Amino acid sequence: MDDLRIALQRLASAGALQRVTTSLHWQYELAAVLWKLQHGPTVLFENVDGYDTPVVGNLLNTRDKLAIALDIGPDEVQPRVVHALNNPIEPTVVDEAPWLDVQHPGEIDLTDILPIPVISERDAGRYISAGVLICKDPETGRRNMAICRMQVQGPGQIGVYLAPTHSRGFLQTHRARGTKMDVAVAIGLHPGLLVASQLLTPLDETHVAGGIFQQPVPLARARTVDVEVPTGAEIVLEGVIDPAEEETEGPFGEFPGTYAPQRKNPVIRLTAVSTRERPIFQMIVGGRHPEHLVTGAIAREAGLFNAIRSVVPGVRRVLLTEGGTCRFHAVVSIAKRFPGEGRLTIVTAFANQDLIKHVVVVDDDIDLDNPTDVEWAVATRTRGHEDLVVLPGMKSNPVDPMSVDRTITKVGIDATLPVDAPAEARQRVGVPAHVMEDITHRWGDITGNN
Ligand code: MN
Repeated sequence: MDDLRIALQRLASAGALQRVTTSLHWQYELAAVLWKLQHGPTVLFENVDGYDTPVVGNLLNTRDKLAIALDIGPDEVQPRVVHALNNPIEPTVVDEAPWLDVQHPGEIDLTDILPIPVISERDAGRYISAGVLICKDPETGRRNMAICRMQVQGPGQIGVYLAPTHSRGFLQTHRARGTKMDVAVAIGLHPGLLVASQLLTPLDETHVAGGIFQQPVPLARARTVDVEVPTGAEIVLEGVIDPAEEETEGPFGEFPGTYAPQRKNPVIRLTAVSTRERPIFQMIVGGRHPEHLVTGAIAREAGLFNAIRSVVPGVRRVLLTEGGTCRFHAVVSIAKRFPGEGRLTIVTAFANQDLIKHVVVVDDDIDLDNPTDVEWAVATRTRGHEDLVVLPGMKSNPVDPMSVDRTITKVGIDATLPVDAPAEARQRVGVPAHVMEDITHRWGDITGNN
């Protein structure tokens, strides 16, 4: 089964892995290098001051990294994740896992063994930023995976922020029952598992991960809690959250590019720590770093594609743009067949994800990866009085800095041509294609560079 190490081998073969052997400090310096290479290669830091454990970053800072890690083409990423959502595969539970090789007690000071970094200037301390929290619904036993920010607060103690989704709901059920929640944190996973953890789905994300890998994900039972963890994990923390206990957590640099404020948040009391021999620690730079944005975007895009396809079968691709923090702005291309499909796409996007605030819908001849092409569609294929969808007072999310009473005005631009537009409306100005091919072929002669 593919794990982080296989993913790193594939990235290295593709020329997308940079090894750094220079000595660097865990406070800010690792993050600084990852900022410098924000759209660049995956980085393996092999010499972190005071530690033997290497650190990997920029594992999933571009969508192409997932393609390389899964050994598929870049155009296959979105269809693969969409297919996985609709065709999940149940995991298998096995008894052995490499992460059971080195066993520590829960009270160990994690900073003695792991190069946990300080990432952004005003972060409250050392944060585990790529840890996947695994827990179960106490009513149904349904498993959940989610990346949560985790602050090391002392030996055996981790502060954790649970976004208002499944894990937090499970904790509320425990509160009502007067019970504590078992959790495990997996660090150092294949990017396919990280993407699965980000899906906005009522399904067990380990099942969708099976769909992404097209084979069951093997899980191993944790040592001290009732949770199963992917066998491929490099590091596994086990512990218990008491719904009655909260500690001060934050600030931490989050995806809108601003700091999440200091708040009272849940605490994980660790019961066991396990690792592979010489494990690899993974970090994700918080804030508007592309890895923080793209890791969440791939899953959200697939979910949005699925929702739109149920009403607009001609949807071609969905992209959450980096400028929109891969959360607030969606651009969607469709092969429009009927009038009104552009507007239907817009309201479906708003209904699918509360964070989506602005949507641009374009025809399928527009290249979503080229912001100038998208802007060209807005410039030449819209009439403001009929192509703008403005919906005030929509439920939003408090992370939107402009939300008022948790509501916001959502705006969509339908930049698709009318269905009955003449064929010339799609014709791009340029020289004949065969001439361009011929000139390209003779390019060395023409420029004297052969
Ligand atoms: Mn979930």
